[in-house]
Parts: sequence; structure tokens; C-alpha cells
Amino acid sequence: MLVVQKYGGTSVADAERIKHVAGRIVRRVRQGDQVVVVVSAMGNTTDELIDLALQVTDDPDPRELDMLLSTGEQVSIALVSMALRALGQEAVSLTGTQAGIYTRPTYGAGRIIRVDTARIRFELERGRVPIVAGFQGATEDQEIVTLGRGASDTTAVALAVALGAARCENYKDVEGVYTADPRIVPTARRLSEITYEEMLELATQGAQVMHNRAVELASVYELPILVTSSFVDAPGTLIHGGPLMEERNRVRAIAHDTDVAKITIRHVPDRPGIAAQIFEPLAEAGISVDTIVQNASEANLTDLTFTVATKDLRRAEALMPAICEAIGAAGYSTDANLAKVSIVGTGIQTAPGYAARMFRTLYEHGINIEMISTSEIRLTCIIKKDRVEEAVRALHDAFQLESRDEVQGTG
Ligand code: ASP
Ligand code: MG
Repeated sequence: MLVVQKYGGTSVADAERIKHVAGRIVRRVRQGDQVVVVVSAMGNTTDELIDLALQVTDDPDPRELDMLLSTGEQVSIALVSMALRALGQEAVSLTGTQAGIYTRPTYGAGRIIRVDTARIRFELERGRVPIVAGFQGATEDQEIVTLGRGASDTTAVALAVALGAARCENYKDVEGVYTADPRIVPTARRLSEITYEEMLELATQGAQVMHNRAVELASVYELPILVTSSFVDAPGTLIHGGPLMEERNRVRAIAHDTDVAKITIRHVPDRPGIAAQIFEPLAEAGISVDTIVQNASEANLTDLTFTVATKDLRRAEALMPAICEAIGAAGYSTDANLAKVSIVGTGIQTAPGYAARMFRTLYEHGINIEMISTSEIRLTCIIKKDRVEEAVRALHDAFQLESRDEVQGTG
């Protein structure tokens, strides 16, 4: 069987861990599987490189920043390949360009448009394990482009799809996908399986275990992903298309995200075209807006609130005076001390009682809900940032996520 294995930054954070990862890869190859490996940069390398760039200039040139950041993965692929060779296993490190990963020409936010697998296949045929740099690709003119923070997962899934691999295995410092962040909820439980939709919602709502674009891509091509530990042998969590063996129509997990800021525009005239006038300039500036709430109008004036990532707040705020003036609004205010907490599970939107239980739980803890948003399988409340850990614990408790026995396949 052909598998793509991806090792995250923590799993290759130092020489010892790199040797440990190499040992795992060799064992797998000796079992008779063909393995293609994708690695992230060691530990916090990417953050350190960004810091370094910001010490040189406040506003690094996007092309040069990608040139710099792509070196992080180049270090780890070379070291993993050396470690494999030291164990007597033929291996070859490949940059994104060498591995045939072609992207759109948007620095810092590249999207993979195609993968030319010829080189990887050639290396596999020669019995070498290809060790591919995650998080990077090249444009048709050989310009190096990075794919967005955390996107090595996406590289791995794209390669698995292009190679027709049986699955993608994502090795991490945690043993799988949990019912909540185990650092916040000590009783959080590992899920043995989860659907693409649920995982996509969790990833998009702040769960850091998988990059959301990787899950989306896997879902389109129905590629199973196993999330498991690189440190210990653990069964992990299988992300697949369902149906689930476990009970359905219940809350599966809680996600939270502290990267939330909101902008409220006051006394917005209630007439057609206003929302377009507000959101078009934001879209043109490349700012993505998350939750939007518009109140019912009184005397033809309404308040409109929306959220953005905290990193985008300054740029969004800079556009507000012109927007308010153009639409004739009274003014605006901002709040960066927010977070969102979400419950996710297939069927919870249509089943009665979930929303009520979520709101009651927050109320019992004296936590004020600032905004609410929903999808078919998710309910999200925006609350104050300093209450979010308490909210996650309270909801984990209220929906009894710690105690449930996993129902395994009964044949
Ligand atoms: N090294 C990159 C980052 O830290 C990509 C990744 O880790 O997936 O964002
Ligand atoms: Mg990383």
C-alpha cells in the first residue's frame, strides 16, 4: 500500500525526534508499504523566521518572505533524509518545486493547482523514500510560494490525492482528535473516528489539530486521514466520509478560537445595497469576515456587527471612517477581546434542545453571549476572551462528552 505520512513541527523539533521519526518511517517501509513523507519546519522555526524578517523591516516584501519561510521546511527534509540514510534506508529530500507542487502566484497564500508526480514516482521506483517539504510550492515560473500557516497538512493531502495513496497519516504531538482541547479540558476524550464535515467545522472554528483546507481537500477526493501520535503507537482518529459507527445526532466535540475581533457600525440606514457597500471594501482589502449580525431596524436605522481575525482588525478599522461616511452611519466601535466557542455534531441543528442547552450552560456560568452563528452541524457563540476556557469546560460537561463509551463497529 502507498501512504503519505506527514510529521508536524513538534515531531521533528530536534535531532533526537528526527531520528525517532526516521525509525518509524524505516519500520513502515520494511513492513512492505511505499511511503512518501511530508514534513513541517522544526519546532517554532516559521515563527522565528517571521520575527527575523520583522526585525529587518515592518513590511517584508511578500516574495522575499516566502523565500525565507520556505527554508524552514528545507532544513527539516534534509535532516530527516540524512537520518534515514544513516539507518540504511535510501531516501531523498525534495523541495515543493522539486516535488512538482504547482501553486497560484499568491505569496503567503498559495493554493495548489496541480501536482506533477513524475519525480516522486521515479524516486519510489528506485526504492528511495521521498521526503517532501510541506507548506510550499512553485508557480509555473518557478517562483517559490508558501501555502499559508499550518498548510503542510494540505501539502500531504494534495500529494496523497495526486499519487492515489490509500490514505494520509498525520503524525502529531497529540494522539488524535479530541472532544475538546485536552490542555483545557483534562477529561477530553479521543474520538476514534469523525466525518469530514465535522472535522472541517472543528478546524475552521479553531481546533488546531488539522488544517481546514487539508480536510476540505480530503473530503472532495474522499481520502481518509488518520491523525495519530508520532511519539507513541496509538490508534488515532480516522477522518472519513461516514457514516459513523458511533451514535449520531449528538454533540461530538467543542472547538474554541481566541482569534476574534468585532466591529459594530451604529445607526446604519436600512436600505438595499448597504451591506454590499460595507463588505465590498473589506473583501477588496483581502479581509475575510466571519460572523455577521444585523439587528432588526428601528426607525429605519440598524446596528450591524461583524467579526474578523484579530490580525486583520487594524486594517479593517482603517477602512471604517470612509465606509461609515459613504453609507451615512453614526460611527463604529471595535472589541478585540473576544473568542468563539462552538459545539459541533452531525444533526444537532435539526434536533431540538441543543441550542437551548448551550445557552443555558453559558448563562449558568454568567457568561454573556455577544453573537450567535450556526451551520447545519454547528452552533457558535461569541463571548469574552477571558471566559472561553471556562465555557469550553462547562459545555464539555453539559454535553457529557467525557464519559460516553465509543461504540465500535459491531459487524
Ligand atoms: N511551518 C509552517 C507553519 O508553521 C507550515 C506547517 O507547520 O504546517 O505554519
Ligand atoms: Mg508549524
